[in-house]
Amino acid sequence: MIKRPKRLVLVGRSLGHSLSPTFQNAALQQAALPLRYETLDIPASALDDALQELAAQDAAGNVTVPYKQAVFARCDRLMPPAARAQAVNTFWFERGELIGDNTDVAGFDAAARTLLQRAPAGLTVGLIGAGGVAGAVLTTIEAWPACRVLVSNRTPERAAALCARFSSFAQPSDADTMAREADLVVNATTVGLRDGDFPIDPARLRPSAMALDIVYRRGETPWVHAVRARGLRAIDGLTMLIEQGAAAFERWFGFPPDRDVMWRSVQ
Ligand code: NAP
Repeated sequence: MIKRPKRLVLVGRSLGHSLSPTFQNAALQQAALPLRYETLDIPASALDDALQELAAQDAAGNVTVPYKQAVFARCDRLMPPAARAQAVNTFWFERGELIGDNTDVAGFDAAARTLLQRAPAGLTVGLIGAGGVAGAVLTTIEAWPACRVLVSNRTPERAAALCARFSSFAQPSDADTMAREADLVVNATTVGLRDGDFPIDPARLRPSAMALDIVYRRGETPWVHAVRARGLRAIDGLTMLIEQGAAAFERWFGFPPDRDVMWRSVQ
C-alpha cells in the first residue's frame, strides 16, 4: 500500500463543473479522513512546477482533460492499465517518484457490466471517438473474451492510429456499419452535452443494441434519453465517473470508499 497522501487534487483545466470534488469529499468525510479533494486548474506551462510541488507535499490525485497524456509522459512508473491506455487519470508519489494509473479502465468496465447486467463476452462494440478516453475503453475491452470493436471518429486518421495499437480486436469503421452491427454502442466523444447533439442518431441503432454514453450531465444526456425513448437500454457516464473515482480512492488509501455516499452526494 502507498503512503497515505497528505493532499488530494484534480489536475486539469476548466474544472468548475467537475463532480469529482463533490463525491470524493463526501467519501473522505464518511471515512473520517482529514483531507479535502481540491481542484488544481493550471495552464500547460505550469504542469512541471505543479508536479514538483505535489511531490514535495506527498500529494496524490486525479488528472483530467487536457493533461492525461502529458502526465503519462512524465511518470517514473506506470501501472499496467495506464501503460496500455497511454494515459494517466490517477497518480501518487512513492519516494518522490511519480506513479501513474488509469482507473477509467476499471470505471468503464463497471459501467458496462451495470448496463449489460452480465459479464461482457462475445460482443460487437461500436466505439464512437478516438481521443484519450477511447484508449481506456479499448484497454478494458481487451480483457473481455471474444469481443470485437468497430471504431468511428470524426477524424478517421485518429481512429486508424488507435486501432493499430489494439489491432487484434479493433478496426476502423464508419457510422453505418457500426449502427448495423454493434450490440453495444459507446459514445467516447465530447459530443452530447447540448440538447439535440447526438453522437449517432438512435433511430439507426439495432433494436437489441445498448448504449453507454461516457459523457454525463445533470439529468442525464439527451442521447441517453433519446435511446431509451426508442426502447433500448442506455446509461450515461455518471456510473463510470463514480467507479473510476472509487477505484482511485482505493489506490490512494488501500480500502474502498462508500459508493452509496458518493452516489448520494451527486444526486
Ligand atoms: P479528447 O481526447 O479531447 O477526444 C475528444 C473526442 O471527441 C475525439 O474523438 C474527437 O474527434 C471527438 N469530437 C470532438 N468534437 C466533435 C464533434 N463536434 N463531432 C464529432 N466528434 C467530435 O477527449 P477525451 O478525454 O477522450 O474525453 C471524451 C469525453 O469523455 C469528454 O466529454 C470527457 O468529459 C468524457 N469522459 C468521461 C469520463 C467518465 O468517467 N464518465 C472519463 C473520461 C472522459 P476528433 O479526433 O475528430 O477531434
